[in-house]
This record gives sequence, C-alpha cells and structure tokens, in this order.
Amino acid sequence: MRMERSKAAFARLVISRLRRRYRHEMHTSLYHGSPWELLVATMLSAQAQDASVNKITPRLFRAFRGVHSYAALRPSQLYPYTRSIGLYRNKSKNIVAAAQKITADYDAKVPDTIEGLTSLPGVGRKTANVVLYNAFHRSEGIAIDTHCITVANRLGLARTGNAAKIERTLMQVVPRKDWGDLTHLFIALGRDVCTAKKKYCVRCVLNDICPSSTVVK
Ligand code: SF4
Repeated sequence: MRMERSKAAFARLVISRLRRRYRHEMHTSLYHGSPWELLVATMLSAQAQDASVNKITPRLFRAFRGVHSYAALRPSQLYPYTRSIGLYRNKSKNIVAAAQKITADYDAKVPDTIEGLTSLPGVGRKTANVVLYNAFHRSEGIAIDTHCITVANRLGLARTGNAAKIERTLMQVVPRKDWGDLTHLFIALGRDVCTAKKKYCVRCVLNDICPSSTVVK
C-alpha cells in the first residue's frame, strides 16, 4: 500500500513535468475529422507509424465519406489507398466489417464506450482507448503503445512488456483525469528522448528522478 502511494506520487511528478515540456503534444497526431475517421486511422496505425498513416488518409477520406460508404464497400476497394501500410488487407477487411457493424448495431454512430468499441472487428483496447479519449473526451482505460511500454518500464512504473498488465498497473497509480494525457505524454517522451533504440537522458526533463537515467547525479 505504502509502495503504491509512493508510486502514485512519483507518477504525479512525472506527469506534471511532462505536461510542462510536451504541452503542445497532448493529442493524437493522426489526421481525422470525425470519430469514424479517427477509428479508421487508428485501426490503420496498428504496428505502423502515424506519419505513414497520415500520408494515405487524406486521399482515403476524400474518396469515401462516412460510415455508410465504407459499409457498402468490398475490402479490396480500399487496397489502392491502404496498400502502403503493413497488414493492409486485414486492416481493410476489418474497417469494412466495423462499418457494417456500426451501421447495423449502432445507428451508424461510432460507439462511445469501451465495450461498444471493442465489440467491433479488429478493435482492441488500445484503439478503443485512443478513440474514446480523442473523439469523445472519455477515459475508461489507458492506451498503451510501444513507446508507453518502453517509457513505463524505464521509469520503473512497470516491469513487463505486456500492454494489458501495464495498463492495469498504471490505472492503479495514475488519477483517472490524467489517463488520456498520459498516453500522449509517454509517446511524446518516447519519440523525443526515450526511444526504444537509444536513451538521450541528458536532454530529458526526468533525468534527475528516473531510475534508468544515465546522467550522473
Ligand atoms: S532519463 Fe533517460 S531513461 Fe529515463 S525517461 Fe528520460 S530518457 Fe528515458
């Protein structure tokens, strides 16, 4: 209990410093103009860079507008737009199937609950959490991507590569109001100085409190 309390205090300090440093990066970098477009972009971004997804979505979103038009497609009709993204066949299939389910079961509106979102084909907790927070300003969990896994472990807030376990651990020590921002802050830190390949601790705002810091105190 005592350890959880000190972890919680540490997490609060981490968040407040990262907020000051990365205050302009507390939103998804995925291009979108509606909850549906955010869902599509997030599904495409699994195991792909946001920047690669942003290269193809403007053309895709101009070609097909809204859930109904995707529901009427064959997955192969998405290939000309999605083929530069890894796993594009499977992702295209899931996007069309998700559109069909949203049309049939949710009155053509993207569901705004974690249960509703994860009931869609190809939508796991990470995608659901991203859409919930960025499209509906709701937090029912914490989206954990590879940057979050790296950063949470280096900071000693987690000791596992399992995203579901990290999410549960962080939900216990981080206040709910910070769940959505936490993902963006860890991603910003992970892209900037705490990359999977290399740590640039000298430039990191956490270098005096991080247990993995290479900066000599
Ligand atoms: S001090 Fe180094 S290891 Fe710790 S979060 Fe910053 S960059 Fe990562």
